[in-house]
Amino acid sequence: MSAVGAEGGEGAAGAAARGALDAAAARDWLRGFAAAVAERSQELTDLDRPVGDSDHGVNLLRGTTAVLAGLDEGAAAPGEVLGAAGRTLVSTVGGASGPLFGTALRRAGKALGEVPAADAAQVAAALRAALEGVVRLGEARVGDATMVDALDPAVAAFERAAAAGEPLARAARDAAAAAARGAASTVPLVARKGRASYLGPRSEGHLDPGARSVELLLTALADALGGPAGEGS
Ligand code: ADP
Ligand code: MG
Repeated sequence: MSAVGAEGGEGAAGAAARGALDAAAARDWLRGFAAAVAERSQELTDLDRPVGDSDHGVNLLRGTTAVLAGLDEGAAAPGEVLGAAGRTLVSTVGGASGPLFGTALRRAGKALGEVPAADAAQVAAALRAALEGVVRLGEARVGDATMVDALDPAVAAFERAAAAGEPLARAARDAAAAAARGAASTVPLVARKGRASYLGPRSEGHLDPGARSVELLLTALADALGGPAGEGS
């Protein structure tokens, strides 16, 4: 996404692929996500209209704006960058999505620990920890029409690519594509968690807003890690 470069990212997103997720790449990831949320805030809020309370884009934008403002240029470890962003999301975003997204980033940050540059296997483990945190907190499973429907297959795709020895950027592209398919898969589902579940069968036929945001998050990761844009980006 060109917005990463336009935002003054430290790395050349879309150019040479990065071999590791270091602190600069983590900051670029968050800048890219914030740019995507700013660009798509209205769309996210519109998705939340039929199944929720029309605030998902507004909620996330409040959080990502605070994350940008608090981005620590001095942090040397990607885990530190992600952990701080997660805490900011938890404390600034109202609604269900703040604690869920915040927990995801906090758990990812904790899993990375102090490592200065994470390889594909380490990022895979961090994404798995993020998913586990979201599932523990929200108790949603695949098929419940939530962000888990995008995050779960994205983590699995990343793990598969990493296990096959694919470079980090390729694994992230695969994860973004899987998140996009996962988000789309929520359309025919009846929601079983979150506000949308109050609608019962009437929640069918709508794309879950949080799943769409997870797609934006994984696409921003792929963009921050560079390399050729692929399917689903
Ligand atoms: P709220 O529902 O409080 O208004 P948002 O509109 O910001 O919060 O976020 C709604 C999104 O949060 C949903 O689209 C869904 O993806 C996600 N969500 C809500 N509850 C859960 C849950 N229990 N587990 C996983 N994700 C959830
Ligand atoms: Mg809402």
